[in-house]
Amino acid sequence: MEYIKLPSQLPGFINTETILGSTRTGGIAYILRGELASSKEPHIYSHCQTRMYINQSRDTELKDIPHGNTMCVVAFKRHQYICPSCGHTEVPEIPFKAKGHRVTLPMLNFAHGLLEMGLTNSEVCYLTGLNKNTVKDIDLKHLQALFTTVESDESGDEKRVLMKPEKQAKFLGIDEFKLHARSHSRQFSFGCRYPRSRMRRCVYPRKYRTGAGNNLRR
Ligand SMILES: [Zn+2]
Repeated sequence: MEYIKLPSQLPGFINTETILGSTRTGGIAYILRGELASSKEPHIYSHCQTRMYINQSRDTELKDIPHGNTMCVVAFKRHQYICPSCGHTEVPEIPFKAKGHRVTLPMLNFAHGLLEMGLTNSEVCYLTGLNKNTVKDIDLKHLQALFTTVESDESGDEKRVLMKPEKQAKFLGIDEFKLHARSHSRQFSFGCRYPRSRMRRCVYPRKYRTGAGNNLRR
């Protein structure tokens, strides 16, 4: 097979082999096999000043930015290390993994960028190959990071609250419109603004209708 070499956007990943394989969902994907650079270094447990050894390993796969319509998966073993003196175990962080998702950081940034451009979740699913729940979660966490903050209440419990806007909006618009002329369903859109983009549109089915269009006020 002929190969091309591309610069890596994954610091700490050593690519040893790339194959064209099939994904669990039956699609074709580039599978970038390799290992973590950290697994080549000795792990010292600072508390005991003892060298740690691999206790167990788990096959890990993270989705990376696709090449056109061919998915891309980074595959490696993630080790758990154990201290032989006290039995303490540690699993080192993966420097290129997006927190809370089984995707790489470049993939997370790619999905964020598409959402910021105002693309719908299904369009982002199609372009990235991510499933809808992952995209929904990325969208939610991104919006939370932009518009909410964590505060402690009187009992010390932490909760997320909406940030105060720098500037109050003059108008808040919400309207319902018919999405498909042939169907009898009426669906409404809800606008939510990203800082660098146009209005973002979310579409809800008829059962969530609020009559907002009739009650639009300045
Ligand atoms: Zn120890």
